Amino acid sequence: MTHDRITFDGPVILGAGLAGLTAALAAVETGGKALVLSPTLLATGCSSAWAQGGMAAALSDEDAPALHAADTLAAGAGLCDPAAVELLTTEGPAAVRALAALGAPFDRQADGGFVLSLEAAHAKARVARVGGDGAGAAIMAAVVAAVRAAPTIEARENARARRLLQDASGRVVGLIAEIDGVLVEIVAPAVILATGGVGGLYAVTTTPAQVRGEGLGLAALAGAEIADPEFVQFHPTAIDIGKDPAPLATEALRGEGAILRDARGRAFMADYHPARELAPRDVVARAIHAERTAGRGAFLDATAAVGAHFPHEFPAVFAACMAAGIDPRVQPIPVTPAVHYHMGGVATDLDGRTSLGGLLAAGECAATGVHGANRLASNSLLEAAVFGARAGRAARGLVPGGEPLPATPAPDLPDSALQALRQAMSRDAGVIRDADGLTRLVAVLDALEAAQGAAPTLVAAQLIARAALARQESRGGHFRADFPATALPERTFVTLDAALPAGLRYAAE
Ligand SMILES: Cc1cc2nc3c(=O)[nH]c(=O)nc-3n(C[C@H](O)[C@H](O)[C@H](O)COP(=O)(O)OP(=O)(O)OC[C@H]3O[C@@H](n4cnc5c(N)ncnc54)[C@H](O)[C@@H]3O)c2cc1C
Repeated sequence: MTHDRITFDGPVILGAGLAGLTAALAAVETGGKALVLSPTLLATGCSSAWAQGGMAAALSDEDAPALHAADTLAAGAGLCDPAAVELLTTEGPAAVRALAALGAPFDRQADGGFVLSLEAAHAKARVARVGGDGAGAAIMAAVVAAVRAAPTIEARENARARRLLQDASGRVVGLIAEIDGVLVEIVAPAVILATGGVGGLYAVTTTPAQVRGEGLGLAALAGAEIADPEFVQFHPTAIDIGKDPAPLATEALRGEGAILRDARGRAFMADYHPARELAPRDVVARAIHAERTAGRGAFLDATAAVGAHFPHEFPAVFAACMAAGIDPRVQPIPVTPAVHYHMGGVATDLDGRTSLGGLLAAGECAATGVHGANRLASNSLLEAAVFGARAGRAARGLVPGGEPLPATPAPDLPDSALQALRQAMSRDAGVIRDADGLTRLVAVLDALEAAQGAAPTLVAAQLIARAALARQESRGGHFRADFPATALPERTFVTLDAALPAGLRYAAE
């Protein structure tokens, strides 16, 4: 199949969340051009704009990057890369200030200092927030304005990556994109993946539908090394009102003192962890999962901790609850764990370089080693900003590769197949996993792949399922009922060829 070909003289950035747009701004800092592709209007269809709590960084006199690093390493359960964590936490304060300088209206004290929230597993109040729970939308509005004002950044909306192009050496030299429904080859010196997480691969998720592991799948199909795909974080308190995606009751509510209760009003977190509501996310998610599975239900009671202050302190949560007929000022909020964040991703170095020449990755789709087995709350916007900028800078000097080999777009899953995949992932690669469920899941994915071909979404799901089956221990976001103990700390590094039996992948292409 031949497509129209355009040649772009600068990095092409896939995705317009905080990582993608930060990369674009950094790529053109010293001149040069960048092209951003976004499936939707900028600032929509990305998790970044939905973030509620804010950005963690050592911004107060009582805090220090080393303390932030210690909390990040503890949350990561032995699998963080200490160099990546040090870089994140050291560069963190400047990254927040840079966003403030772009116009992100962080909440301020009377003396001009940042208002900082305490969140679970942070030893200090260090989460810079905006308007209570509006951090993501406000930060993205400022960044989008800067991108729109940058004369050398071109942003194409209604544009989605469908295949990476490679030359004969395997270097990435561009991509096939679908722009306004038309397939086009874009040849460029660098491609930066900033396609976000994997929430859309699960039936119960807090992330936008566009965020469904496509970048991960595209990179894996090109042969890139993937790290830690089995580590998926479940947010403990998505609001359980049958909406897809599920609205979020931010972690900050528990920071403010909201209590988790069962349907009879009993506070249950003391049964699970001494830090109760402020225990690590995975512990709280499993506790809620256990209460719900036992039929006792789970509710977040912020009536005393927030009460009448809800409308102005947590407007997004308030609006989501009221729309579902729940008044959180006086009623507990029904909650369920939901897929929220992917610690795994395309393996990168500290400048976003992947194992393939010409291909970089930043933000949630990348695995820099910052999060290990479990992300510390509010570290991901920070990671997107810090490592997005580093990837943008690293892409600046790249020169074009060789002639692209002929390629066709990867198959897309029809909606019925995607829904089947999402149900199977939530059922068998969820908060609690075991060999029986994961084996069943792999069989479902193999059958879908045989029928539909190697769609990037399916490839991403395969990587998660097979790595979860292979990891016979429990650690961070990955809990195996049949292997509850923790083994030696080892990260997963895998390529698609190693993860999937030969002969299956291209069966239906
Ligand atoms: C409800 C919610 C609340 C959160 N709250 C916080 C918080 O308070 N603090 C915090 O630190 N983190 C929070 N997170 C996590 C954080 O928002 C994300 O991890 C982070 O924003 C990821 O940024 P990103 O730029 O990597 O990806 P995203 O912002 O998700 O952007 C990904 C982009 O890639 C695009 N894309 C996808 N596939 C393709 C394709 N094939 N081709 C081209 N483009 C594609 C998407 O449309 C989107 O534009 C929250 C997440 C959610 C869902």
